[in-house]
Amino acid sequence: MQKIVSVACLLVVLALAIGAGAATNAAPPDAPEYSIQAIRYADLPDFPVSELAIGAPKDEKIEIAMAIWLIRGGGHNILFDSGFHRESWFKYFPMKNFLRPDECVKLAGVKPEEVTDIVISHAHWDHMGGIDLFPKATVWIQKEEFRYYTGEAWQAGGNHGGIDPEDAKELVKINTEGRLRLVDGDNQEILPGIRAFTGSRHTYSSQYLRVDGKQPFVLASDNCYLYRNLQEHKSSATFSEADREGNIKQQARMIELAGSADRVVPGHDASQFQKFPTEGRVAKIR
Ligand SMILES: [Zn+2]
Repeated sequence: MQKIVSVACLLVVLALAIGAGAATNAAPPDAPEYSIQAIRYADLPDFPVSELAIGAPKDEKIEIAMAIWLIRGGGHNILFDSGFHRESWFKYFPMKNFLRPDECVKLAGVKPEEVTDIVISHAHWDHMGGIDLFPKATVWIQKEEFRYYTGEAWQAGGNHGGIDPEDAKELVKINTEGRLRLVDGDNQEILPGIRAFTGSRHTYSSQYLRVDGKQPFVLASDNCYLYRNLQEHKSSATFSEADREGNIKQQARMIELAGSADRVVPGHDASQFQKFPTEGRVAKIR
């Protein structure tokens, strides 16, 4: 009897697992076939690869892309990440070809006030630093990321490395204006056919996106910097030692969610602007 019960339990667990998988991978029938563009707002030369992919030779350097992604469909113009513009960061990170993200978006055919939504992968300066440039956008961020960086991060013992205090204030302001939405954890559909997944701990609670469709794409942001991370199964050095294994697992999950490593778009890899048809700063991913 015991054995029959445990076999039955196993079948139930298996059925639930298959059911959950199907729910995760099937696009909802009402989801629009979104277009996806990558927009390069600056280049950052001479970046040590070893800070992006663990184990890379110490003296190897590359030029990385500073990018945001524009997803359009179903009456929405959605930005994934918002870039930055605050002067103070340029002295630490000397950029080439910088163009403010709101100007960049125009190159892709959208006015800044036409951006309806901004999904923030995480609160770092180069991802959240442009939220004040899009006056009508609803901003989406993980609930825990919001809670931490508008509170505890600035208390004794807190960690706010890479977070611009002005961006944290802007986030609170946007909330008081009724334009903030908090995403509560992993595997959340935030708009029809656009689903947020929590990464391992790059910041307090980062997220990446899957855009559904016949060919689903995963936009990784800093949860996977380079194609090289995917190919060599290398964690990024910016993840704490305890979170590196988690980061590698998340990268494997991204490939699964996209259905192909070719449809995972890394956050800072300049070669996405060669892999996909590109005009000037704008690549057409889908
Ligand atoms: Zn980051």
